[in-house]
Amino acid sequence: METENVENNAANELSTIVNKPHKIPPIMLRIADYQILLKRINTIQKIKCLAKESGEFVKLFVDTPEEVLKLTKYLEEQQLEIYCVADRTARPVKVVIRGLGKETNTELKELKFEVEKVNQLRQFKTKEPLPLFQVHLARTPNVNEIYKLTSLMYHIVTVVKYENKSLRQCLKCQTWQHSADKCHLKPKCVVCTDVHESKNCPNKTAISEEQKLPVKCANCGGQHTASYKGCPKYPKMGSKS
Ligand SMILES: [Zn+2]
Ligand SMILES: [Zn+2]
Ligand SMILES: [Zn+2]
Repeated sequence: METENVENNAANELSTIVNKPHKIPPIMLRIADYQILLKRINTIQKIKCLAKESGEFVKLFVDTPEEVLKLTKYLEEQQLEIYCVADRTARPVKVVIRGLGKETNTELKELKFEVEKVNQLRQFKTKEPLPLFQVHLARTPNVNEIYKLTSLMYHIVTVVKYENKSLRQCLKCQTWQHSADKCHLKPKCVVCTDVHESKNCPNKTAISEEQKLPVKCANCGGQHTASYKGCPKYPKMGSKS
């Protein structure tokens, strides 16, 4: 059965359960020569920062969320191209509760879960509501207990992890693992790869085909849009970048 998220907001999020101790995700910096900058961050800015090269980016690791803020602010002031990798441990656990006829919220709260959001899923074509609820829970220590739930509100239920197969792609720069609001990279158009936001692409207002810029992928240079899943640079699920 095909279902669709009612609000469709989680469309590009990867939901995985992480039980590892909290690790601060790196700040990604696009720069050719970072050695002097790295030294300056450590000695002048007094931010303990370690670097690791990753393709055209350098990953900058610091130890605390405060240092992330401090370093982000500094790099922004220097007008450098950065983005912050989304902190997966801060994201909610997303599950689907199957078998429920009516919205549940208070019941889950009584069971000591911290409910952030509840969406009823709908039949893709008819939009009929289904007995399926997508629930976002905060990562409290007991959060995995949700999978043991067998009944709720006098209904037999099953709880499964909410899986979204697509990775989060930034609408601004077309690379992955972060959202546009956290992106300080130069914009790249999803259609033509020029330095403009996709919504401002001149192709939208072109009156003839000849006026249009050719379709070019911002990630591989191929003749497809940057959101094309068949792109050779499109990240494979489960691989780390
Ligand atoms: Zn971006
Ligand atoms: Zn464009
Ligand atoms: Zn491509």
